[in-house]
Amino acid sequence: MIEIENVSKRYNGLPAVKNVSMTIRAHEFVTIVGMSGSGKTTLLRMINRLVEVDEGTIKIDGVDNRDVSGPQLRRSIGYAIQQHGLFPHRSVAENIGTVPGLLGWTVEKTGERVDELLSLFQLDPAIYRDRYPHELSGGQQQRVGVARALAARPNILLMDEPFGALDPVIRNKAREDLQKIQQQLGTTIVMVTHDMEEALALGHRIAIMDGGELVQFAEPADVLRNPASEFVESLVGKGEKPFRLLAFASVEDLIEPGEASGSPISGQLSLRDALAEFVAQGKTSLPVKDENARIVGQITLDSLVRNGSGTP
Ligand code: ADP
Ligand code: MG
Repeated sequence: MIEIENVSKRYNGLPAVKNVSMTIRAHEFVTIVGMSGSGKTTLLRMINRLVEVDEGTIKIDGVDNRDVSGPQLRRSIGYAIQQHGLFPHRSVAENIGTVPGLLGWTVEKTGERVDELLSLFQLDPAIYRDRYPHELSGGQQQRVGVARALAARPNILLMDEPFGALDPVIRNKAREDLQKIQQQLGTTIVMVTHDMEEALALGHRIAIMDGGELVQFAEPADVLRNPASEFVESLVGKGEKPFRLLAFASVEDLIEPGEASGSPISGQLSLRDALAEFVAQGKTSLPVKDENARIVGQITLDSLVRNGSGTP
């Protein structure tokens, strides 16, 4: 758990972060989103004390983060950034083994961990262990950067626009991988992004920054339904909002009795994917099946559109 309490930071007399309070739960995936210069990076870097707070406190699992030394703190918290920061003259294995090395792990234990992480990130250890960063694609470098941040099994991972440099297709894949890994390991993740789409897709909750202030901290569907201000409303996009909301409800929420024709869709499907099915099949109603492929009713395009627009 990370408790940020009334934290402020000024640079040259100008506020960068203004009196921010928020609590990030253990195992939570929180995204911090906002325009450039809104204080996201400063807030993130105050958690691992790459930046010191001017006012306020940050507690990690109940302990003030100033009660331990900065380097010691940073060895226990993973940190991954956009320019992945890999050491160019060290192999992939040496890069990933950096923090375990600092912590005094044996060569054998570190080697096992390196291979485990490479496998987790779908990089064959036999092939990639001894490569150098320049021998990897941008997406692979990024994965090694995140693997390095996770090497010593930190409970907390801080990420600053980790996928910013990746092209859109690889970025989607990287997001999915990260989501899976987070579910698997239960790591608490705080990720900064300027991309609302990414924030909504990944965050259990989203923190929205504007001019150094935290203007909303809520679940994605909540942010879409009840934006805290005009600014948040503009950020989530008035026009795209109904469409985005569809991702947070599933077909089974809208099942009704009836026998539609067409190829059945799963009750687990998000309404966003269901909309794609309506379009692909050219239908206005579709049969819905359960896990055993049994038809359990139907969904209509009408009800989906009503749900998306927020009218019951
Ligand atoms: P974001 O990550 O949201 O783009 P930052 O946290 O990097 O925003 O910056 C917030 C504000 O603080 C900006 O106005 C920026 O210019 C300023 N700032 C950030 N770091 C420094 C620094 N080391 N020295 C002076 N000003 C800084
Ligand atoms: Mg930044």
